[in-house]
Amino acid sequence: MDFKVLFSPIRIGNMEVPNRFVVPPMGTNLGNPDGTISQEMIDYWEARAKGGWGLIIVEVTAVDPLGKAIPFQPCLFDDSFIPSFKKLADTVHRYGTKIAVQLHHAGRQTSSQIMGEQPVAPSPVPCLVSKEMPRELSTGEVYEMIEKFGDAALRARKAGLDAIEVHGAHGYLIGQFMSPHSNKRVDEFGGSFHNRMRFPVEVVRNIRRKVGGAFPVIFRISGDERVTGGINIEESRAAARVLEDAGVDALHVSVGVYGSMQYIIPPADIPPGFLLPYSEEIKKAVSVPVIGVGRINHPALAKDAILSGKADLLSWGRQSLADPETPNKVAAGLIEDISPCIACNQGCVGYIFDPDKMKATCLVNPFCGREGKMKIEPAVKKKKLVIIGGGPGGLEAAWVAAARGHSVLLFEKESVPGGQFRVGAIAPAKQEITKSISFYTHMGRKYGVDFRFGVEAKAEQIIAEKPDVVIIATGAEASIPDIPGIDNPKVVTSTEILLGLKDPGTRVLVIGGGMVGSETADLLGEHGHEVTIAEMSPEIGRDVQESVRYFLFRRLKKYKTTIYTNTTVKEITNDSVRAEKDGEEIELRGFDTIVIAVGATSVNTLERELDGKVPELYVIGDASETRKAIDAIEEGASIAIRL
Ligand code: SF4
Repeated sequence: MDFKVLFSPIRIGNMEVPNRFVVPPMGTNLGNPDGTISQEMIDYWEARAKGGWGLIIVEVTAVDPLGKAIPFQPCLFDDSFIPSFKKLADTVHRYGTKIAVQLHHAGRQTSSQIMGEQPVAPSPVPCLVSKEMPRELSTGEVYEMIEKFGDAALRARKAGLDAIEVHGAHGYLIGQFMSPHSNKRVDEFGGSFHNRMRFPVEVVRNIRRKVGGAFPVIFRISGDERVTGGINIEESRAAARVLEDAGVDALHVSVGVYGSMQYIIPPADIPPGFLLPYSEEIKKAVSVPVIGVGRINHPALAKDAILSGKADLLSWGRQSLADPETPNKVAAGLIEDISPCIACNQGCVGYIFDPDKMKATCLVNPFCGREGKMKIEPAVKKKKLVIIGGGPGGLEAAWVAAARGHSVLLFEKESVPGGQFRVGAIAPAKQEITKSISFYTHMGRKYGVDFRFGVEAKAEQIIAEKPDVVIIATGAEASIPDIPGIDNPKVVTSTEILLGLKDPGTRVLVIGGGMVGSETADLLGEHGHEVTIAEMSPEIGRDVQESVRYFLFRRLKKYKTTIYTNTTVKEITNDSVRAEKDGEEIELRGFDTIVIAVGATSVNTLERELDGKVPELYVIGDASETRKAIDAIEEGASIAIRL
């Protein structure tokens, strides 16, 4: 397929962007605690500039100390931040990429825990997610805030950036002023459409006054906030015209606020390109370029969006994390070499909001956010590797090691690759996982991995290969609880159900409501079975990422799934179970099938058999300790770059 249209330059104000590939301003939390740009962040952005993106928009950057949404957010509320932004801009410019910075104030969508003070907002109306009551900005403070946006824009220009983007979307401060959902003011900044638009318009005018007429100003807008009383596409179109008149040079069209986060960072339940109808509508209203976004993850989709007039440029958000080289690979026609974002939300948004992780990475690309530390470089000494297990950890280790020049032989007992990752892909809305497995296998073949599928390797066979290194990546299998009646013929594992190996009948009980149990129930519900879930803890799906959970729970409700929480199954008797719920004994009856989904147990018999018999031995992923695919892939890559 010819993707020339994606590589044609386009002007935004006085800036010529060399192609149509945009990295939007996603928070990574990779900045320094003092708000300057860290070396880690420079490495992250350098990888994307090197990867061929035409325009990168540096993530949410605070214009005011009381506007931070995440702890390690870059800041531009003082001249002292200019030098680190200059270093970043100089780095990015070496690759011909244009760089903008997004000017941001969180308003009510933050917390006193992050800032040490009560958040501020147009009105004392709490965010639907943070739920903290904000302090209403006085009219005088609103005028001061307008100046702060202008001052930060001037600093961006002084730092050598090519453009700025004003964050008027996603329910942050500017969006809060624009939206009747959050703006209940009765001064000149509230009430009518005209008054609600006064703050963004004055911000744009103030920026324009301070940076000069030629410096490009992009405005990000939510085409639809998807909350009660929020802005819809009709009002967004009207707002876009007003903003164009105020002097913006491009519009960047997203949707949502924190209360509808599942649409800002959508999981695989939502199809690729789902927001393009919004950018198409905005494009009809303005003459400046429009940037589209929303699960843009393959070049054919991007090409069609441009040719059918839905957008002029495309933001490939999470895809830029999954593979920073995406544009270069498209240009070279290496489409299969592109590591696909699977919309899992685990490594990116999931890690940022996880207090134990806090920094963005990517499930399918463990090098993301660690570009300075983790590199695929030619091996000093070429070794022979044998990898046992073709799940995500084994596959990642195999292709990365082979790309470094090692000779790699991989045994997988199943006839196809993927392990538990492949089983997980069968549940509804998990289909993207298959793209990732195909990518790993393709890259392995490209670099010469000898895949032996359908072979359960024994210790003698492995030793006979005379390997320098053995990596055990044999994964895990379903845990079987030790309860009376577990050998009942009606009892099956979730794996057997997902793989279609057992007929579940009509009424099904799923024991265990974690991710695997809930997703198995989802599949069964979709196929018309009557499903009951019995879960020990107070809620189901605790290990499921929030946006993914939103759609999963919606479907479980639609299928009228019966859910028993705080329920521990004590005994299985024929078609029934005896359980304890909240300290009371109960009986659940009349099931055709009882599905076990209570976690997994490591599979690793080879370590003992190979210990001391091969020069180097490693155990990775679930074979070492049962966790998530993101951990297995990260371990696979980490081992492979060290060998
Ligand atoms: Fe995409 Fe998942 Fe990577 Fe996030 S962690 S960028 S959703 S593959």
